[in-house]
Amino acid sequence: MRELFDFHLHVGHFHEWSEEARRLWMETGPYSGKIYAQDGCLDIDAFHQVLVDEGVVGGVLLPEYALHTAGVMPVERAIAVSQRYPRYIPFGALNPEIHLDPVAEFERQLTLGVKGLKIHGVHCQHRVNDQRLYPVYEICQDRKLPLMLHAGTSIFPGTRLRHADPYDYDDVAVDFPSLNLILCHGGRNFWYPQAEFMVMRHENVYIDLSGLPPQNLLNYYPKMAKMSHRFLFGTDFPGVPGVAANAERIAALGLSKDVLENIFINNARRLLSDF
Ligand SMILES: [Zn+2]
Repeated sequence: MRELFDFHLHVGHFHEWSEEARRLWMETGPYSGKIYAQDGCLDIDAFHQVLVDEGVVGGVLLPEYALHTAGVMPVERAIAVSQRYPRYIPFGALNPEIHLDPVAEFERQLTLGVKGLKIHGVHCQHRVNDQRLYPVYEICQDRKLPLMLHAGTSIFPGTRLRHADPYDYDDVAVDFPSLNLILCHGGRNFWYPQAEFMVMRHENVYIDLSGLPPQNLLNYYPKMAKMSHRFLFGTDFPGVPGVAANAERIAALGLSKDVLENIFINNARRLLSDF
């Protein structure tokens, strides 16, 4: 079986996700019936086993604090999974509407063990170049912690396209030139060329391929093979029709073995020294 590092795994209890998130996203995959206990809490062993069965040998765990859209899945869920199975790397998450002192909260999350940060401006209804977050981006840059930005549309009610404006993401890349920046979903739906341009222009910008139809990737990113050291496999689990199936569809695009290994696992190894 192919070894995969999934850079985009969501964690949280079933009841922490909003009803819309469950209906529009989570239930597009076969996994939601398998990874929660009867009381709706995440069953960590089941979560792990489901991923092992798909060939996943490691991954990044993403909490989220999206009060008005997806729900609040606190960082402690990610920490709990990684404490039991260290092959999963917990990332932090911040929402300036909840975390009035983002630096203090991020320091708290770092103490808990997070190894990076995910910002979801689209679900949390703020711009990703929000100045309140810049001191935290500075910490990430200084400590070599990757910053993931949800970069693309979302169909959840309450989300606005302006929070996915590519120029805001470019601002962060320009203002923090040595920050490892990951554009999750690579500009999904309306700015694939801009996302690829950012990968070409900025040395430390990456794209995670989660939530994209694998068979279309070379249409979205004609330079994906040439720039394969900057593309990361990820799925948006548990809201994905199939983890291993997605990987096989990427493998069927006719890419070389080296390109596939970069995307499936090697780039993640380079970015996350702990893995
Ligand atoms: Zn996601």
